Amino acid sequence: MIYLDYAAHTPVDQAVLDVFCEVTRNYPANPNSSYRIGKEAADRLAETSRHMATLLGVSETEIIFTSGATESNNLAIKGIAAKYKRYGKHIITTYLEHSSVTGAVTALKNEGFEVDFVDITAEGTVDMAHLKELLRDDTVLVSVCYVDSEIGIRQPIREIGELVKQYPHCYLHVDATQAVGKIPIEISFIDLMTFSPHKFYGMNSSGVLIRKEHVMLEPLIHGGISTTPFRSGTPDLAMAVAADAALTSMMADMEEHLTYVTQMREILVEGLTKHKCVHINSTATSVPYILNLSLRGINSHAVVEALEEKEIYISTKSACCAPNTASRPVYAITKDKKLALSTLRISMSHKTTREEIDTFLDEFDACIKALS
Ligand code: PMP
Repeated sequence: MIYLDYAAHTPVDQAVLDVFCEVTRNYPANPNSSYRIGKEAADRLAETSRHMATLLGVSETEIIFTSGATESNNLAIKGIAAKYKRYGKHIITTYLEHSSVTGAVTALKNEGFEVDFVDITAEGTVDMAHLKELLRDDTVLVSVCYVDSEIGIRQPIREIGELVKQYPHCYLHVDATQAVGKIPIEISFIDLMTFSPHKFYGMNSSGVLIRKEHVMLEPLIHGGISTTPFRSGTPDLAMAVAADAALTSMMADMEEHLTYVTQMREILVEGLTKHKCVHINSTATSVPYILNLSLRGINSHAVVEALEEKEIYISTKSACCAPNTASRPVYAITKDKKLALSTLRISMSHKTTREEIDTFLDEFDACIKALS
């Protein structure tokens, strides 16, 4: 099997799974219980939060453990909107966002919030002049992904953050699910940041929301204080420890991984662009992990299915998108409906081998010939 859909999910690392099982076995109590074994669990949770906070350059009280990036995005967006609506009901986001951001924003629109989408340049980055035009005194939230899940474009988060800071009642939420563990993160200008360990060899159904100290949120889940008033429920100690283990491992080798994946991507692009029908949608500002392309005159779903027959797994879009619809991110940068309807996403990992890339390219060639 050749798996090239690491932006959708990564297989859990054995060491992460081991630590998850070890903690599940050895810490039987609720971290909120006041007796000794409860306190032991609470201490391990505090130690884990401190360690993760140091890795990310935040304080431990700024970490909220959730059930995934979908919950983190919903908590950030709806939590800000509910808490600060007295200052305004205007939100700005982009066409590059994951459905858990657009879904939350759409829900708020249905409740009477006004939503603007900032233009995207041909390079795929936020059009800063348009963002300046859109920002108003009643804008309470700007939500932009660090790296989008379809084209892999890295946004100028610092520049966006500096601009948002000029509006005292406006907060910057960044969905960094495709960035954390893969590229260095500049967190100082971000008010709220989402990520999900299952994108970097951690466990699924585990997520993190970084909430800077000065930001208040209306919780989505009510029911007691737990370790944070912003997210109730018995803390999942084993999930938290596993998330920290996965992040620690990825951050230790991040530069090495980036260099390696960049080399693999060059080989991939060279092989793919030999075909006249291939149009590369990812740009110079895309991270090397995600490569998005469109096929002119060939059905991209047929290619995905033909490759699946050979046990090669790639996707047409993000796994959470509605099938058989145009890719919003690709349309946003190309303004070409045909290109947006025929996308393929190939996403790599530091574990992707040269042999896998070569085999993929051979099978892709065969596929294109058969379908042309
Ligand atoms: N945001 C982005 C950018 C993603 O790629 C994903 C996963 N496809 C999510 C949010 C949702 O993550 P989760 O599966 O942890 O809910």
